[in-house]
Amino acid sequence: MKLEGLISAQRRLPGVHSALPLLASKQASIEAGIGGEERVAEVLRKYSFPFDHHIFHDLSPSKVENFQVDTFTLSPWFGAVLEVKNIGGTLEFKDNPPQLIRTREDGHKDGYENPVVQLERNYELMSDWLRSRNIKIPLYGAIVLAYPKQMVAVPPKKTKILFPNLVPSYLESIPRVEQKLDLEAFHWLSTELLNSHQMYIPKPICESYHIPFGDFKPGVWCLLCRRIGMVKTPRTWVCPFCNAKDHLAHERTLREWFLIHKRSITNRECREFLGVDIYTANRILNSMNLHSEGKYRYRAYTMDFTLKM
Ligand SMILES: [Zn+2]
Repeated sequence: MKLEGLISAQRRLPGVHSALPLLASKQASIEAGIGGEERVAEVLRKYSFPFDHHIFHDLSPSKVENFQVDTFTLSPWFGAVLEVKNIGGTLEFKDNPPQLIRTREDGHKDGYENPVVQLERNYELMSDWLRSRNIKIPLYGAIVLAYPKQMVAVPPKKTKILFPNLVPSYLESIPRVEQKLDLEAFHWLSTELLNSHQMYIPKPICESYHIPFGDFKPGVWCLLCRRIGMVKTPRTWVCPFCNAKDHLAHERTLREWFLIHKRSITNRECREFLGVDIYTANRILNSMNLHSEGKYRYRAYTMDFTLKM
């Protein structure tokens, strides 16, 4: 959803807008992150472990902010938290202050939050989560560098660094001396992890990047020719440029509103954003399974992103 919001926002900003480079670089870093996690998932999918285990990708087991585990492996003997990074270049892990410095091929340096800090935080949060369910199993953790051409000049002092193809042998090397969970508890805990997963709903782009509402172009864009300006007809939306029709265009456009502008929308805002009259706006807002609050012209609608639209 964060990626979706960034892409929508860029499409609606004028080509010279000062926020565009930032949004584009944010998009690239999220895409790189997803690429890295997929590489690790792919390696794990192909490997067959000689012991019972479940692997969870992108798990957020509580509402605690930023508690998002890239890869969590649960077995009856242990749990393992992996933090996946996908940053190219030469990396230096610094302790004081904790920072990750990347040097690109052209010598340019960038600073990042040290993944060791993120890993330790997730490790602590996962311990708390297990403790609150009266589960005592040893936890392990490592950082996975998923970018194909990563070089580590200065590794972290205490934390293990892996490349994706080393992850299976790392997990296999974790001692399995004492079985902490019987099979029933192991399956129960796995279900519990899945049930507690919280979908991550990002803040609207306007709020995250302090971009004024008015900078974004309103309107319904055409999936075919990608221009903004589709017009509502009684049964569908029609593009005046290429004549494409799309009877669900309002749904994706309102989704964009919630991702870019704010979590709620009023009839007036809907009218202005979609370019429709008060009655059509009313019909659309009431047809979309949105929560509503307030009366008459103060009524605001919000979308529950955890439900499929
Ligand atoms: Zn079109």
